[in-house]
Amino acid sequence: LAERRYIAPKKKLLWITFFYWVLLLYIIAALVWWFIALNKQADIMTALRISQLDSNMPDYDKQLAEAQDFKKRKVAQYLGEGAIFLLLILVGAVFVFRAFRNQIRFAQQQQNFMMAVTHELKTPIAATRLNLETLKKRKLDEEKQKILINSAIQETDRLNDLTNNILLASRMEGGKQQFQSEWVDMPSIIPEIERQLKVRYPNRNFEVAFETSQDLKVKGDDLMIRILISNLLDNAIKYTDETAKIKLGMHRENTFISIYVADTGPGIPAEEKDKIFEKFYRMGSEKNRTTKGTGLGLYLCRKIVDGLRGKIWVEDNFPNGAVFKVQIPKT
Ligand code: ADP
Repeated sequence: LAERRYIAPKKKLLWITFFYWVLLLYIIAALVWWFIALNKQADIMTALRISQLDSNMPDYDKQLAEAQDFKKRKVAQYLGEGAIFLLLILVGAVFVFRAFRNQIRFAQQQQNFMMAVTHELKTPIAATRLNLETLKKRKLDEEKQKILINSAIQETDRLNDLTNNILLASRMEGGKQQFQSEWVDMPSIIPEIERQLKVRYPNRNFEVAFETSQDLKVKGDDLMIRILISNLLDNAIKYTDETAKIKLGMHRENTFISIYVADTGPGIPAEEKDKIFEKFYRMGSEKNRTTKGTGLGLYLCRKIVDGLRGKIWVEDNFPNGAVFKVQIPKT
């Protein structure tokens, strides 16, 4: 069923694209036909005018030239009007096509998002339930109980992160999210983020680089800045294999603070570099995506950075991988 739901918009897109081109070609053909018809009419009118002339008239040559000139002017007028009309039709057609294509793409991403969210919500719920049932039914020794309880806590943490991201995205959309404005010391928020990531990815480490002597405070909302950094680190861990190195760096540059999260994973192809910040956008097709996600992480990062009047973008890491860069103004 999921597969069918995923394909459906593509079929619809094909049909609508077909009708769109037929309609556009019809309009252009009608325009050409209209030009030919008017041209013929001008020919007939000119021929009539010339046939009414008397070659014995003293100003016959002048009248003849005038009749021929009339024909030329008419053709120029039809050509001019036709060209403007054609241009307007083409500009309109481009606008309609773009708006329509964006709409379909968004609908498709939304559908992918619903599928991903359903999966993301169901997995931790099922895992937690299984752990709790096992604890209820069996008499386990303390060590085993601890493992099951810890794993249930991890799953609920994941669920909590996911619902926070979804709620935050919808609140930001509705303009309801109130941002605090306080001085946040960037290095001081790292240990807590590190602790949370350690729970989720016990085998992964990341390196942190910053100058202790530099003033790395930014004015913004503490929680939002934590979400920003932890989403970037979470992605760097999630989309790279265990051997990949991850580095978080921050430093001061004149009037702003620069932050980067670099990994040595597969990187982001040039044509995806802007798209990954769109809402619900995930790279590749839903079928070959093995990683968990909703396509909200980087969208939220961009929204948060916008709220801080900063910039976020991604570059290639050398020799491979991605570097997400953020600049936040100091004041
Ligand atoms: P999600 O992780 O939930 O899919 P994001 O908005 O965080 O959503 O990321 C969007 C897409 O960008 C991901 O699906 C992934 O394909 C790609 N991506 C993000 N970070 C990285 C990274 N560090 N390396 C490679 N690909 C990445």
